Amino acid sequence: MLRLLKFTLDLFDVPPVFELPPKAQPKPEPKPKPKLPRKAYKTESEQAALLLPSSDIFSHHQQASQQTRLAGHTVNYELLRSRRRTMTFSVSPAGLSVRAPFGMSQPSIESAVQEKGPWIVRKLSGMQQREERIAALKMDWQAGAQLAYLGGTLQVRVNPQASKHTLTKSEEAENKQVLTLALQQGASDKKIRDATKKWMQQEATQLYTARMNHYAAMLCVNWRTLTLTNANTRWGSAKADGSIRLHWRLMQFSPEVIDYVVAHELSHLRELNHSARFWAIVASVMPDYEVRQKQLKAQVLPPWE
Ligand SMILES: [Zn+2]
Repeated sequence: MLRLLKFTLDLFDVPPVFELPPKAQPKPEPKPKPKLPRKAYKTESEQAALLLPSSDIFSHHQQASQQTRLAGHTVNYELLRSRRRTMTFSVSPAGLSVRAPFGMSQPSIESAVQEKGPWIVRKLSGMQQREERIAALKMDWQAGAQLAYLGGTLQVRVNPQASKHTLTKSEEAENKQVLTLALQQGASDKKIRDATKKWMQQEATQLYTARMNHYAAMLCVNWRTLTLTNANTRWGSAKADGSIRLHWRLMQFSPEVIDYVVAHELSHLRELNHSARFWAIVASVMPDYEVRQKQLKAQVLPPWE
């Protein structure tokens, strides 16, 4: 009984005051940055532009608990209640999230959502278009799939007679290569995709190791381990103990960009932060690092699957 009473008090503890945020359109709340121990310092400049497509974001919020109609669209949204005095609205690739005070009634929330309707629909439409552009980039893994590879193009073919996967130069273009996979004719999308990924990861281990040795010597640092990552959020990270993590899909960037990430991470073995000292170290081995950094940020890779 005591617990129930406490809960009831909590419910009304926060007065159901409803204020829209200031006139400016609310921005999605930034996610709190995870606190990392100093040793596990990870970099932010290597945020990966791997974008995951979602289907109809108007109606499919992953954590949707509420539904409404806005300008002819059915909008499912996530409602998060907390000890707060104001409401906020945010749109992410996952859909619409509404944050509201504990004590606020459902009709009040609904009328606020309606009031913000034009903004919400505009943001959701923009997000939807972005998602569709990404989905349009989606790889077609059948019949001669082509993908970005080391600054050029890689065409994937299947040859049942081949005894192993091989890489050859294409006669069609200077910067085009052909990866012939030793797979059955009519192999499934998944088989082709997985074989390409495995092959590319092997190439990545070789190339990254060579480039890390090259830059480690220039920077007078020792790296200990290389781990390939598949995270959707980071291209690379470094720890003070010399362990380096690099995304295998960096192989789809130019060698110059790969070198930038390698040099960047190895520079962290001397300076575990993004201070001016750190950037001076990067510049000491790569004077044009800023150009490469821009290229890394500009390129968007389609989802692998
Ligand atoms: Zn960094």
